[in-house]
Amino acid sequence: MTTVPPSPLQPAYDLVVVGSGGGALTAAALAARAGLSTVVLERTPLIGGTSAYSGGACWLPGSAVQQRAGLPDSTEGARSYLAAVLDNPDLERVEAFLRHAPELVATLEDDVLMDFEWIPFAEYYDAPGRVPMGRSIQPVSIRRDELDPAVTALVRPPVERDRVGGTGRSTLSGGQALIGRLAAMVVRDGGTVATDHHVVAVRRDADGRVTGVVADTPTGTVEVAARRGVVVAAGGYEGSPELRSLHGTPGRAEWTMAPRGTNTGDVIEACAKVGAATDYSGQGWFCPGLAHPDGSGTFTLGFRGGLMVDQTGRRYANECLPYDRFGRIMADAPERIPSWFVFDDREGGRLPAIAMPEGDPAEHLAAGTWVTAGTIADLAQAIGVETAVLTATVDRFNGFAESGVDEDFGRGADEYDTFFAGGQGPNKALTPIDRPPYFAARFVLSDLGTKGGLVTDPAGRVLDAGTGDPIPGLYATSNSVASVFGAAYPAPGAPLGAAMVFASLAVRDLLD
Ligand code: FAD
Repeated sequence: MTTVPPSPLQPAYDLVVVGSGGGALTAAALAARAGLSTVVLERTPLIGGTSAYSGGACWLPGSAVQQRAGLPDSTEGARSYLAAVLDNPDLERVEAFLRHAPELVATLEDDVLMDFEWIPFAEYYDAPGRVPMGRSIQPVSIRRDELDPAVTALVRPPVERDRVGGTGRSTLSGGQALIGRLAAMVVRDGGTVATDHHVVAVRRDADGRVTGVVADTPTGTVEVAARRGVVVAAGGYEGSPELRSLHGTPGRAEWTMAPRGTNTGDVIEACAKVGAATDYSGQGWFCPGLAHPDGSGTFTLGFRGGLMVDQTGRRYANECLPYDRFGRIMADAPERIPSWFVFDDREGGRLPAIAMPEGDPAEHLAAGTWVTAGTIADLAQAIGVETAVLTATVDRFNGFAESGVDEDFGRGADEYDTFFAGGQGPNKALTPIDRPPYFAARFVLSDLGTKGGLVTDPAGRVLDAGTGDPIPGLYATSNSVASVFGAAYPAPGAPLGAAMVFASLAVRDLLD
C-alpha cells in the first residue's frame, strides 16, 4: 500500500476519484489544478490499469495539435465522421464530446507537464470526414527522471513486461507517458494517489447525494468522504466472468487485456446498489487475441501476412480490418472462436503481426497453441480441419496475392489494411503463403475492455435509475460508463479520448 505523498489519508476530500486510468487521472489532475483537495483510490499496487498498457493514442479531434501537424482535421469533420459511423447515438453526449475535446487539449497543454503530438494511425472507417493517416494524438514520451520518482515508481509497466517480466524503461511512452504525466500533475498540485485501496461501496445520504466511498485496504476498511463529488473511472467489467455472462458480452475474462485483478465492474455494481442507472450493452472494444499456453489471449493487430480460418478451414473476413471490426465478425459465429491463423516462414517462424505480447514460438509449439508442418495438408491435419478445404483456401488466397485483388473480402482496398503491411506484390496487404514450414496459431476473441455500465449525461453526471435525474455528487467516465460511441470503435484513441473528455466535463460541473 503506497500513498503519494506519503501521509495517511484524510477522512474527507473535495473529490474522490475511483480508479487510476486515463480518465481518472485527467479528472484528478484538473481538479487538483483548480484547487480541490483530491484523492485517487486504486485497488492494485500500481496505477494506470489498461491505460498504462495502451499506445496512449487519444482521439481528441479539432485541437491545436492537429493544426500544428497540418492535418485536414476539424470539429466539423469529426462530426460528419461520427454521424456516418455511429449507430443511433446519444447526440447530446456526442456533441459534448466534440465541442469539449479541443478545449481539453488546450487546457492540458497549458501545463508544463503535458505535451501532445500527432501519431499517424489510420482511422477505422472509410466514411465522410475521415482524415488520411488519422488525427489521433498522443502524449510526447518523457524520461522518468523528468517526473516525480515517487509517482513514476507506481506506473504499471508496458503489457509485455507486466505479463512476462522484465526491467523498467528509462523513458515513459504511450499510455505510460499519459499516466506518468497526469499522476505527476495530481501530486504536484497537492493531490494524493493511494494504491491498494479497493473501493467496495458508495455512500449515498438520505437527500440522495453521494457523499463518499468505502475502500478495503491491506490494513483494514476505510471510509473516505467526498465533499463535492466522486468520479468513478474504474474500467469496465471485462475481468468478471459473471458479469460478462450476465450481460451477454462475447469473449472471456481470461482473454481480456485488462491487467489481472483490475476491472471487475464492482464499482459499477456498487453505484447501481445506491440507485444509479446502468446500461450494460454487452459491448466491448474487441480484437483478435493470440491464444497463449496459460489460457490468456493477447491483443493482435497489424497482420502483415497469413490468413485466418475458422474451424472448417475457411476464411471469413479481411484479416487486415481494424481489430474491433474483425473481433465483432469473430463473435458472430461460434465456429470462429477459436480460429487458426495460418502463416509461413517468411519471418523466421514468428507471427507476421503485432501481438502484445507474442510469447516464445517454441513455447507455443510445445503447448499446442501453435502447430507447424512442412505442407499445408499436414498443417490441416494438425489443426483438425479438412485437408482439401484448407488447401483450397490457401491456394485461392495465393491467387489473390498474385493478382493483387482479394475477391472474397477486399483485403488491401482500404488505407487501414495497408497501414502495417509491407508486401512486395501488386497488393501490399496480400503476401502469398508459400514458404515452408507452415504454422497455425490459435486465436480467441480478446478485448481492450468492456464499454457498458453507468448511464451518464453530457456533463458526466450519473443518472438515477428511478427518476432519470443526475445523482448529486456522482460522476463517471472511462469504461465504467455506457460508451458515447455505442457499439462502434470509430478510430484509434477513441476509448481514452472519450474517457478524458467526460472526466474534464465532470470536473467542470462539480466546480460550478
Ligand atoms: P483502466 O485504464 O484499466 O483503469 C481502471 C483502473 O481502475 C485500474 O487500474 C483498476 O485496478 C482500477 N479499479 C478497478 N476497480 C476498482 C475498485 N473497485 N477500486 C479502486 N480501483 C479500481 N485506447 C486508446 O484510446 N488508445 C490507445 O492507444 C490504446 N491502445 C491500447 C493498447 C493496448 C495494448 C491495450 C490493451 C489497450 C489499448 N487501448 C487504447 C484501450 C484502452 O487502454 C482502455 O480501453 C482504456 O484505457 C480503459 O480505461 P479505464 O480507465 O476504463 O480502465
